[in-house]
Amino acid sequence: MSRIGMTTTVPVEIILAAGQVPVDLNNIFISDNQASVLVEAAEDEGYPRNICGWIKGLYSVVVSGGNIDKVIAVTQGDCSNTHALMETFQLAGIEIIPFAFPFDRDYDLLRLQMDKLIQLLGTSWEDVQRVKHRLDVVRKKVAEIDRLTWQENTVSGWHNHLYQISCSDFNGNVSEFEQTVDRFLLQAGAASEFDEDIRLGYIGVPPIFTDLYSYLESVGARVVFNEVQRQFAMPFPVDDIVEQYRLYTYPYGVFGRIEDIRAEIEKRNLDGVIHYVQSFCFRQIEDMIFREKLDVPILTIEGDKPGKVDARTKLRIDSFVEMLR
Ligand code: SF4
Repeated sequence: MSRIGMTTTVPVEIILAAGQVPVDLNNIFISDNQASVLVEAAEDEGYPRNICGWIKGLYSVVVSGGNIDKVIAVTQGDCSNTHALMETFQLAGIEIIPFAFPFDRDYDLLRLQMDKLIQLLGTSWEDVQRVKHRLDVVRKKVAEIDRLTWQENTVSGWHNHLYQISCSDFNGNVSEFEQTVDRFLLQAGAASEFDEDIRLGYIGVPPIFTDLYSYLESVGARVVFNEVQRQFAMPFPVDDIVEQYRLYTYPYGVFGRIEDIRAEIEKRNLDGVIHYVQSFCFRQIEDMIFREKLDVPILTIEGDKPGKVDARTKLRIDSFVEMLR
């Protein structure tokens, strides 16, 4: 069984159908208690200081003994830096499999990309569809965690983030992950309600900060909508797997994301939105579009390296939450 690294969410059903282990490199990086050392290690190897910390972390996870056999690199629909990341992987002798989400959501092109991945990993559409049905059961349970977060108020913003983001690779073991989800659902179903008075949405790439959600809760605000993480969990009830990856908003440009965010703001009764941006990330430009298109107060915060929320950002969060009260 090979361990297949992923630079972001790709059709994980194909990797599992091929009998391989999917490994979301982002999750390995950020859950490492030496995550900032991984960033520094990439800089020591020659990665520029003014490149996003996630890219440097991913590089180190693979190159410094992450036990990864191949990497599926998303060359369209995620991050322009992935191209150079791929090249540095190749330089280090790592086998790369490119995958591209078509910018215009073209069904045939997406199906072709998936077909190529199926051929390359040596599986079939029938097996992929079988795995999809298996994963649909788990995705439904994770969607229930999300519902308990915003509707029953029994799940923290952090747990909402954690379970949804883990659906990119199901922690490499679907059955074990499902058992963890089942245990958490039992616990959350019986938990008492959170009583924060401010309900927030979190949009943008996942935070490199390690304590953002708990800090927000300490000042009386809870994240009840994690935009990109929810997309990774794909709570879309469709039978066609190509359509599932077309409905997934993250790789296709900001306007589809805005439609989704608007609907969730309304449904979840949000008071405001935190837009997280990563230092040196091209997606920072999208902040001006969110500000123009979303009708709720927005606080934009920026993170650079793994670690706790810095004092200046805490102060800005405090003022934002006060302003929303
Ligand atoms: S945060 Fe931005 S620059 Fe960094 S990996 Fe993600 S998309 Fe790329």
